[in-house]
Amino acid sequence: MSQGTVQPLERQSTKPFMRERQQLVDCIRMLEKAEIIDFNGHCSIRVGDDRILINQGNCQRSRLTVDDIVTIDMEGKLIEGVANPPLEFHLHTGIYRARADVKAVVHAHPKWSTYLTMTGHAYLPVFAQGVLPGEAPVLDTPSSINTRPMADALAQVLGPRPSALMKFHGAVTVGKDIVEAFVLAVYLEENAQRQYMALQIGKPYVFSGEDRTAAMEKLWTASLFQRTWDHYKAKL
Ligand SMILES: [Zn+2]
Repeated sequence: MSQGTVQPLERQSTKPFMRERQQLVDCIRMLEKAEIIDFNGHCSIRVGDDRILINQGNCQRSRLTVDDIVTIDMEGKLIEGVANPPLEFHLHTGIYRARADVKAVVHAHPKWSTYLTMTGHAYLPVFAQGVLPGEAPVLDTPSSINTRPMADALAQVLGPRPSALMKFHGAVTVGKDIVEAFVLAVYLEENAQRQYMALQIGKPYVFSGEDRTAAMEKLWTASLFQRTWDHYKAKL
């Protein structure tokens, strides 16, 4: 290498948690491509006890880069980054406060699962992967989760579960990592679409009892979560 050549290392970011930042970017771009997230959704990863990586509020989800990922504390204060977090950052901090086991949160305004909340239809698993998000209880208000009391109310509805819906508004899924939270968001919405469509032509068969338990035991595996993530990642 000749003297004076610019070393590639000089252009590499020195920000911490670059792997997690890239995972968030991939997650949001995959959700946008799958039409699960729109221009308002947001996803986060907890790093340490009181730090959260989250996409900044005013960004293009379809063209997201690691520069759009910012760091906030549990009060929503910007610790690092060039722009403010979404107004609904409370949704994330509220869940992290209530759930030590949760390391990642996905929030979107997907249409199929929201149709169910608009019409009072409970989320019911109508295909095998649809059991994974659980019963998806509904927060009974259309308000945004942009205050601490609203966040606490959502965390209470979510309880120990992997997902919840918000009436007229959207969905939240959580996981021990972003792969889990992403895949649950995908299957929640796919099941809701199948449930909606099945309701147009009859009364759908719903997984319950032993069928539900068996599907959960068979499908809740690291390999299924990773294969689903990889399937969507390959489309980017
Ligand atoms: Zn929202």
